[in-house]
Amino acid sequence: MEAVLHRMEELITLLNQYNYHYYTLDNPIISDQEYNALYDELTALETEHSVVLPHSPTTRVGGELLAGFEPHRHLARLWSLDKAQNIESLEAWNQRVRKAVADYNAKHPDEEPLPDPTYVVELKFDGLTLNLTYRDGELVQAATRGNGTVGEGILAQVKTIRSIPLRIPFDNGTIEVQGEGIMHLSVLEAYNQTAAEPLKNARNAAAGALRNLNPRATAERKLSAFFYHVGYADGVSFGSHQEMVQFLRNNQFKVNPYLVYFSDIHEVQAELEQLALNRAELDFLIDGAVVKVTDVRTRDALGYTDKFPRWAIAYKFEAEETTTILESVNWEVGRTGKITPVARVQPVELAGVTVQNCTLNNRGDIERKNLKHALGTRVFIRRSNDVIPEILGKADEEIGEEIPFPDTCPSCGTPLEERGAHLFCNNKLACRPQTVGRITHFASRDAMDIDTFSIMTAEQLYAEREVRDPADLYELSFDDLIGLERFGEKKANKLLAAIETSKERELASFLYALGIPNTGKATTRMLADHYRQLDAIMSATAEELVELPDIGAIVAESIVTFFADPVIRESIERMRRLGVKAEAEQRVEAREDSIFSGKTVVLTGTLQQMTRDEAAKRLETLGAKVSGSVSKKTDFVIAGESAGSKLVKARDLGVTVIEDEDQFIAMLNQ
Ligand SMILES: [Zn+2]
Repeated sequence: MEAVLHRMEELITLLNQYNYHYYTLDNPIISDQEYNALYDELTALETEHSVVLPHSPTTRVGGELLAGFEPHRHLARLWSLDKAQNIESLEAWNQRVRKAVADYNAKHPDEEPLPDPTYVVELKFDGLTLNLTYRDGELVQAATRGNGTVGEGILAQVKTIRSIPLRIPFDNGTIEVQGEGIMHLSVLEAYNQTAAEPLKNARNAAAGALRNLNPRATAERKLSAFFYHVGYADGVSFGSHQEMVQFLRNNQFKVNPYLVYFSDIHEVQAELEQLALNRAELDFLIDGAVVKVTDVRTRDALGYTDKFPRWAIAYKFEAEETTTILESVNWEVGRTGKITPVARVQPVELAGVTVQNCTLNNRGDIERKNLKHALGTRVFIRRSNDVIPEILGKADEEIGEEIPFPDTCPSCGTPLEERGAHLFCNNKLACRPQTVGRITHFASRDAMDIDTFSIMTAEQLYAEREVRDPADLYELSFDDLIGLERFGEKKANKLLAAIETSKERELASFLYALGIPNTGKATTRMLADHYRQLDAIMSATAEELVELPDIGAIVAESIVTFFADPVIRESIERMRRLGVKAEAEQRVEAREDSIFSGKTVVLTGTLQQMTRDEAAKRLETLGAKVSGSVSKKTDFVIAGESAGSKLVKARDLGVTVIEDEDQFIAMLNQ
């Protein structure tokens, strides 16, 4: 038995270490397969001998349904934070801090004076506050904040968060650490894609899961947590915030890489303004930032009011979510024939913008979000980065009027086809918004790049020259154009020349121009690189396509269905007869001798002299691997203007950052 226990300890130590690298450092050191083999060995030993050690990773999967929450009395109180809504109240807080420091120093002439205040800015995560208790290195309790003095014990639920250590190196005393349980937005999105009932919001998703009496349900949400404070420590003390954070890191807690120190409050203010602009780039919700005095002696001297510590303040950002009344729903026809519901809402301010239109995605979405009977009632809306705000769900229980689903195309009257969650108008050649959208997309910059062509041109050609298909563009003559409104001789010739030039566009752009549903630029580029022949792509089977990187069943099916359509095939044949080449680009061998050869490079922010796409292309020809996220394996981060969290992370990890664009271009040209 002793040998068995020894082996179990050994496996647990290994697995917990691998977990730490995977979930806390985002830097896995073994394959999933190797991990699973060790995990299976441990599970087998536990089953065979009916022993489960308390810090075993197998205790993370959830276990039994709980009867209720046990109250937990926090060893040190969890304070709430004083709030500043604007720069003025932040400034006022700073004045109070400076005055208190001066008063203290005046009253204690024989002590070493408190230093001038310096500050740390941390993110204020929007999730559920957690307080973890470790006794002699072992995680023994986890609790919600509750009223600050007594919270609810949620140890089984918290154990399902893989990045939370079950055992820590500090094994000589009791500590309580505070952090926030969160759900990453990307995880929420993935969860919602298959969930019977989609989650409205990442904060509620995290908080609800952690307070669910079925820890298995908690485990399914794949939560994460960031830690930022040691609330109680018996056997260790800290002189500064930096020391406390180092202690957290040394003990394998996940600390968010965003952590910035300042000695001047004006720099803090500038940072907060920048952060408010960049927060949409984060993969989790924050509702502000926390500014703290870093020196712990100063913290002790400043003390607490009956509610708040005087040495910290929460700076709140404008809300990214709000509620408003859903007034009506319009159905719009997109270029693929997809019918999209667009909601009109009572105008409401959201993050500084007046919102009037929101997206509802599709018919299935309305049903899944329980919005079918929501007309005239209050709904949650959320701002998103580059599209119009989204309706998340109902904000109250009131039953409103029904949103009618159309049977026929609102534009051309064709009966609609239901495909999955979507409605489609199949009238490709005579449904005006669809045709105009398709031709405009075809001519757009990343597609065939037909200079001077706009949606106005497509509308004009549709109405007056019966242009119904991209192929029709290649049959336009000077006489066709010259008679149109706003078309002079010069403009007509310019457009004809641009159409002529577009015949040379390479295969990837041509594929993108066709507007295959569910297929973006990256996919068409990959298809062109892989097949290098249009005919080969047109005859590829779904089985063949799903073998390719980044192509799932839905995309494969979309591609096959698209090229099976006789209207599309005829259009492509006509274009080729009219001189469109759609040939693959000549391959350029990636260089092996450049400064970027074999290096992993991340581009972030806005470059002035080229787009990020262009920079990525240049880097690839120099033999670099261009990646979207910063990790320890990143060699260079190229940071343009307004670079956000990636730059912060790069600095934190000690990755080489190039901020001088001229220097970057000089390196490209070497
Ligand atoms: Zn139609």
